[in-house]
Amino acid sequence: MKKDIDWNNIGFGYMKTDYRYVSEYKDGKWDEGTLTTDDTITMSECACVLQYAQTCFEGMKAYTTADGKIVVFRPDLNAERLQSSCAGLEIPVVPKEQFLDAIHQVVKANADFVPPYGTGATLYIRPYVFGKNPVIGVKPADEYEFRVFVTPVGPYFKGGVKPITIRVSDVDRAAPRGTGNIKAGLNYAMSLHNIVDAHQKGFDENMYLDPQTRTKVEETGGANFLFVTKDGTVVTPKSNSILPSITRRSLLYVAEHYLGLKVEEREVYFDEVKDFAECGLCGTAAVISPVGKIVDHGNEIVFPSGMEEMGPVISKLRETLTGIQMGTIEAPEGWIEVIE
Ligand SMILES: *Cc1c(COP(=O)(O)O)cnc(C)c1O
Repeated sequence: MKKDIDWNNIGFGYMKTDYRYVSEYKDGKWDEGTLTTDDTITMSECACVLQYAQTCFEGMKAYTTADGKIVVFRPDLNAERLQSSCAGLEIPVVPKEQFLDAIHQVVKANADFVPPYGTGATLYIRPYVFGKNPVIGVKPADEYEFRVFVTPVGPYFKGGVKPITIRVSDVDRAAPRGTGNIKAGLNYAMSLHNIVDAHQKGFDENMYLDPQTRTKVEETGGANFLFVTKDGTVVTPKSNSILPSITRRSLLYVAEHYLGLKVEEREVYFDEVKDFAECGLCGTAAVISPVGKIVDHGNEIVFPSGMEEMGPVISKLRETLTGIQMGTIEAPEGWIEVIE
């Protein structure tokens, strides 16, 4: 029986569900993991995660498809990305099969929290790993927890998708040979001041430039850019300090193989941005958010698609990918994993 939740009116926030998955790493190995109803964690005041931020995470979603199945989207890519994040932080990697099993178990156990088809709501899944034992001299922890919790979330954009306004940031997100390409909490901690500042000044997001030359577009605090040229080519920035968004990679595939568009992954200079026809931000939470305006210290770039609605290409990309996720458009082999 589905929980008594007003599915059409839930926001994008945390709601405690019945079960979460926990696995502990001790004596050089991960245990087999288990589901628990306990939503709290007790650990040493000196835990490595608390002192030195040794933690990374993933973000993904489960959906109810048009024919009533509960599915997750490309979880193998989240498993692989968590492994590369772990490697970058000296965290023992979570085996791929264990990751996938954990996702299955948690979603299945919380099936009553998966929003019904047609509500626009989805079940957000948050896998994460952290160093748990006391560490005061700087070194990696010896003991870790891998956890997965889920929470139902409403559509990222309530009452329809409206183009957003972003600003060019004066601070940098990731160093040229730093940690920008791994999904670490530390990359978000540093972005908090800047996003609060952006919101106070009336902007929805920060556009980060490459820190070395400050001439090329990287990404925002939590989403990758897609641009569309005036002749309909889909362009995305290439850089070693961008987090490889699974949504962005999927949208590029959709652009090429479903919509027959030309796609390019290459360095994108900020100078070219004014010549693009459309701009969007990609990530699991919103799929793709149209950007209407970019403000660079008083200079405004307003895309031809404007501030009222999504441009035609971004709109088509969004429609196609959400159709694939919801089971109304046939998915490429291996993209949709059925839970039950
Ligand atoms: C998670 C994340 C994204 C989006 O990745 P998806 O796999 O599409 O959800 C983009 N940028 C950053 C910095 C991220 O942490």
